[in-house]
Amino acid sequence: MFQNIYSPVQKLKINPFSNLFVKRDDLIDPYISGNKWRKLKFILERATIEDKNHLITFGGAYSNHLVATAAAAAKFGFQSTAFVRGEEVKNEMLLLCSLYGMKLIFTNREGYKDKSLLFEKKFGQDKNAYFIDEGGASPEAVMGCTEIVDELREDYDHIFVAAGTGTTAAGLLKAIQNKNLDTKLHVIPILKGGEFIREEISKYTKISENLNLHTTYHFGGYAKTQPELIAFIKSFTAQTGILIDPVYTAKMFYSILDLQKQGKIRETDKILAIHTGGLLGIFGMKDKF
Ligand SMILES: *Cc1c(COP(=O)(O)O)cnc(C)c1O
Repeated sequence: MFQNIYSPVQKLKINPFSNLFVKRDDLIDPYISGNKWRKLKFILERATIEDKNHLITFGGAYSNHLVATAAAAAKFGFQSTAFVRGEEVKNEMLLLCSLYGMKLIFTNREGYKDKSLLFEKKFGQDKNAYFIDEGGASPEAVMGCTEIVDELREDYDHIFVAAGTGTTAAGLLKAIQNKNLDTKLHVIPILKGGEFIREEISKYTKISENLNLHTTYHFGGYAKTQPELIAFIKSFTAQTGILIDPVYTAKMFYSILDLQKQGKIRETDKILAIHTGGLLGIFGMKDKF
């Protein structure tokens, strides 16, 4: 129903990455970015099948998912409303959401906790309203992310991805298992205490030996950073012409370099990094640069 988009795979020629390729999901769309489009695709398909034309979703004030949902809604003819966690604020991302016609309902942290209740209270009677969980987490989202692996024309020893909820990682793992690949999936939680990702993934597919969870590359947690990561972003972007963001993809690329340095991954191994997009995250942390 929604057109398939094949993102290109590009070889990175930068020292010290020797055999590193990047799947450029960041190029899918500037604002319906990367994995957020992968996650939305089958959600929008289901909403269409159920004849719903109003997307209701949830997120923080710097959520890539909100921008992606707003942009996709406008592009494909849906209305959109978001419950935004916290006090009313203005920023670049919410500006884009508004331009795409998304209605924003700022919701205090206490009220925000129960998303089904929020939906029920405000949209329970609205038969056009379609509930999309925070970050798009759902079986449809996992299915959309399996397509990342299905599109690959070559095999890789390792695939790397950043994780917030782990939904994208679950889709990748599922596809690796479905295709019986030996590929190791390396998941980099960007939150502190990332062990919970294993449980999240297990809701959608079995935990197999393909899964390698690296919980030490969070750099302090969500929207936290350290000077070393900022320096890494500057040098990576200047050398490759590929923008990466401090919330997600920089932590993932940094981990590849570090695991190679530690000898945990051989320099000759063929690695694919999934560029999950989300570059607006840079603007949420501009004072750190
Ligand atoms: C949301 C996001 C992720 C995390 O995806 P999950 O499916 O929640 O794990 C990774 N990278 C970027 C750029 C994102 O915006």
